Amino acid sequence: MILDVRNLQVKYGNVKALHGIDLAVEPGEIVCILGANGAGKSTTLNAICGLVPPSAGEIFFNGIPIHRLPAYKIVEHKITQAPEGRRIFGTLTVQENLDLGAFTSKNRDRMKSSLAWIFELFPRLAERRAQLAGTLSGGEQQMLAIGRALMANPRLLLLDEPSLGLAPVLARQIFKTIREINESGVTVILVEQNARIALKLAHRGYVMEVGKIVMEDTALALLENPDVVQAYLGGAGG
Ligand code: ATP
Repeated sequence: MILDVRNLQVKYGNVKALHGIDLAVEPGEIVCILGANGAGKSTTLNAICGLVPPSAGEIFFNGIPIHRLPAYKIVEHKITQAPEGRRIFGTLTVQENLDLGAFTSKNRDRMKSSLAWIFELFPRLAERRAQLAGTLSGGEQQMLAIGRALMANPRLLLLDEPSLGLAPVLARQIFKTIREINESGVTVILVEQNARIALKLAHRGYVMEVGKIVMEDTALALLENPDVVQAYLGGAGG
C-alpha cells in the first residue's frame, strides 16, 4: 500500500468537515473520489498533502506517518497536489511557474529531465514557456498546474477537479495525459465532478457524502451501480 489513511478527521473551527475517512491506495492505481459539492473531497486531498491539519486520525505514506508533517515536508516525501481552480502565478511566466514546482530539488539534471517530460506531455507549455501564465487559456493553465505538480517528481499526484471549466475536448485531452502520467508509474488520486469520465479513467473509486465515505468499489462496479448512476451519472444511460 502506498497510501493508508485511517479515521481521518478534519475540523474547520467547530464544524467537522471529515468524520473519519479511511482510504487505501495501492502503488500504480488511479483512485477517484466522487461526491457532491461540500462532501469533503478537497478537504481530504488538502489533509493528505498537509494544507489542512487533521484533528484526528493517521496518514501513512509508504508506511511512514505524515499526518503531523508540514506541507513542504510532505512534498519532500513525493506527494504533490495540482489544485483546483488552476492556482498558478499569473504574473510569472510558464517557465517560472514550473521552476517553482521544483523548489525541493537540488538536482539540476533531475529538474531538466522532469521539464523535458512535462513538455513532452504538454507540448503547448513548451511553446508558451516565456509567456505570462495569466494570459494562458483555461486549459493551458490547468496543464500548467499539473505540470508544476509534476516538477517535484511525485510518487503520488493529487488532482482536484482537473477538468473544471474546460470544454469537453480539452477535458478529454487532460484525462488522456493523466493516464500517461499514471502509466509512467505515478499513483494518482483524482477528485472530479465529471464522475463518468473519472470512473472510466480510474481503477477504483470512493464515494463521499457529508464528510464520510459511503461507498468504495472498483471503477467498473461503480459505473454499473444503480445508486451511483442515479446520483452521479445523470440517471440511466446519462
Ligand atoms: P467542492 O466540490 O464544492 O469543493 P468538496 O467535496 O471538495 O466540495 P470541501 O471543499 O472539502 O468539499 O468542503 C467540505 C466542507 O467543509 C464543506 O461543508 C465546506 O463548506 C467546509 N469547508 C471547506 N473549506 C473550508 C474552510 N476553509 N473553512 C471553513 N469551512 C470549510
